[in-house]
Amino acid sequence: MAAQRRGLDETTLIRRYFQRPASSRRDVVLGIGDDAAITRLPPGLDLVTATDAIFEGVHYPPGTPLRAIGHRSLAINLSDLAAMGARPLWASLALSQPRARAAWLREFAAGFFALADAWQVALIGGDTVRGPQGATVTVQGAVRRGHHIGRSGARPGDGIWITGHPGDAVAGRLQLDRRGGSRKLRQSFLYPQPRLREGRALAGIASAMMDISDGLHEDLGKLMQASGCGAMLDLASLPLSPQLLAAVGLEAAREMALSGGDDYELLFTVPVRHEARLARLARGWTVPATRIGTVRKPPGLHWQLEGSAWTPCTRAFQHFG
Ligand code: ADP
Ligand code: MG
Repeated sequence: MAAQRRGLDETTLIRRYFQRPASSRRDVVLGIGDDAAITRLPPGLDLVTATDAIFEGVHYPPGTPLRAIGHRSLAINLSDLAAMGARPLWASLALSQPRARAAWLREFAAGFFALADAWQVALIGGDTVRGPQGATVTVQGAVRRGHHIGRSGARPGDGIWITGHPGDAVAGRLQLDRRGGSRKLRQSFLYPQPRLREGRALAGIASAMMDISDGLHEDLGKLMQASGCGAMLDLASLPLSPQLLAAVGLEAAREMALSGGDDYELLFTVPVRHEARLARLARGWTVPATRIGTVRKPPGLHWQLEGSAWTPCTRAFQHFG
C-alpha cells in the first residue's frame, strides 16, 4: 500500500479492477481482500504451482497493447499447467506499474479476466507496486494424485510431437509495429492460447511433456536431457504455418521455428503403442499435433533433412533493441 502515494489509492484500484463480486469457484474459501487467500483442494489431487513474470523491454516491446499483456501474463502461466497435464484453478497477480493509471489497469484487467473466465480460473490475491511495467503471476492447478506428466519420462523409440505452428509468435512479434503483415502471426504473439485441454488429454498417453517458450531446439534439448536421452529430428516435418512461410520464406521460417521462442505450444513424447490413441484424440483438437522426430539413446539433437545431417543455425530472436 505504501508504494502508492499519488493518484488513486491502491485499495480503490484493486477493488475497482481486480476484485469481483463473488468468486467464480466454490473451492475459494477466502479471496481478495484479507491478508491471504484460502482455498481447498479435494483429497486425491496433487497441487501444481507455477510462476512466470513478464516485463516491458524484456518479454514484450514497449507499446504492446495492455490487453495483450494482461492476457499473456496469465497465458504463459496456464501454459505451464497445461504442460504438466494439470487443470487450472487459481491465480495470484503481482502487478508493477510506473504509476497507477486507471486506463492501463482497466485494459490489463480486461485481457487477464477474459482468459481467466474462459478457463474458470479465480484471481485470489496479489500485490500492486510502483515500478517498471510488468506482471508476475502465480497459478495453481490440480492433477489426479501421481498423474502429472513430467519432463523425465521420454524413452528411446518414443515419437516426438508438438502442437501448433512454432515460429509464428516470433514472426508476429517482429511485425508488431508494422501496418499490414499477418494478423494471425501478430495474434499468436499477443494472445497465445494455453493448450490446457490438450495437455490434460495427454495423461496416460504422453511419456514426457513441456511447453516451448525459449525456442523449439533449446527446449527439445532440455526435455531430452531431463529424460537422459537424445533425439533424431526431421526438419521437413516441422509444421510451418502458411502465414509464416509467406511472411519470411522457408529458410527463415525454419530458423524462427527452431529458435524463435514465445510459442507456448506443447512438446511431448509418445510411445509408439499409444500413437493410435493420440491420433484419435488429436482429431478432436482445434490445434494440430505433428510428429517431428524420434527419441534415441545417444544424447544430443540430430536434425536431418532429406536423409542428410543438418546443423541448425540458432540465432537468438530474444532481445528488444
Ligand atoms: P497487504 O498489505 O495486507 O498485503 P494489500 O493492500 O497489498 O494488503 O492487498 C489487499 C488485498 O488485495 C489482498 O487480498 C491482496 O491479495 C489483494 N491484491 C493486491 N493487489 C492485487 C492485484 N494486483 N491483483 C489481485 N489482488 C490483489
Ligand atoms: Mg500486499
